[in-house]
Amino acid sequence: MPLLSHFMHHSFQTLAQKAHIDGIGLHSGSQVNITLKPTSQTGITFIRTDLDHFSIPADFKHIKSTFHATVLGEGEAIISTPEHLLAALWGTGITHCDIEIDGPEVPILDGSAATWCDLIKSAGIVPLPGKRPIWKIQQPLRVEDHGAMMLALPYPGLRLTVATDFDISYLPQQLVDFEMEEISFSEQIAPARTFTLEQWIEPLRAQGLIKGGSTENALVLGEKEASSALRFPEELARHKALDALGDLSLLTSSQGALLQAHFILIRAGHGLHFQWMKAARDSLSPFITAI
Ligand SMILES: [Zn+2]
Repeated sequence: MPLLSHFMHHSFQTLAQKAHIDGIGLHSGSQVNITLKPTSQTGITFIRTDLDHFSIPADFKHIKSTFHATVLGEGEAIISTPEHLLAALWGTGITHCDIEIDGPEVPILDGSAATWCDLIKSAGIVPLPGKRPIWKIQQPLRVEDHGAMMLALPYPGLRLTVATDFDISYLPQQLVDFEMEEISFSEQIAPARTFTLEQWIEPLRAQGLIKGGSTENALVLGEKEASSALRFPEELARHKALDALGDLSLLTSSQGALLQAHFILIRAGHGLHFQWMKAARDSLSPFITAI
């Protein structure tokens, strides 16, 4: 039985029991242990068990950097690359969760959110008292940067339209359009993997990134072919949708709120998501109402 999408599920929910996994970070290459735990406190909170249990709430205001991955942090304590796990929690309707982690980066696993969905499913999901508030985008809000665009429109549900346009001879431009209430997140978005163009690898390594990267945890797109068979014809656009969901969860997760909007993303990435969220927060009252 696939997990249905719970993006518009009205109850607060947490895990039925804790769930553990370990793996390496894509950028740091470090091995980390991670345990998802039930809690009665609203929101998603990362807890650095190696730093005296320093806690970092998964919230927009703790975004520290968006260079090739989202990084949350406070002072010296950071949590890098949380976006796939955050998308899986949002997609399965988990509004309350403590995440214990003994290193600076969430494991990349196979580069997708499939394993996170399996882990949440195996732990089980239980309802909590209370009803989730709803944040509605009231007016169009658009940001643009170097040919990339992110636009949100008022909409009665949650819809995500994503277009990608990479210069890859054997992959056409890609477009996906998801009505989030009607799809299975765990089947249609979660399995899409992190990807990189082969020509980006050396420059990224030179900047100290992707130390844990391999064809086991990323789709590498060479000049003539990909490192493995695509899981979907539009796997790149689906992964971009996954990243956008993980980042956007940072806008509402501290309140466990539902988000109502139609997001249209063209060539967008973490940096543009951050710019859009900043614009939304700066103009909070005209654009968003909590009900
Ligand atoms: Zn990603």
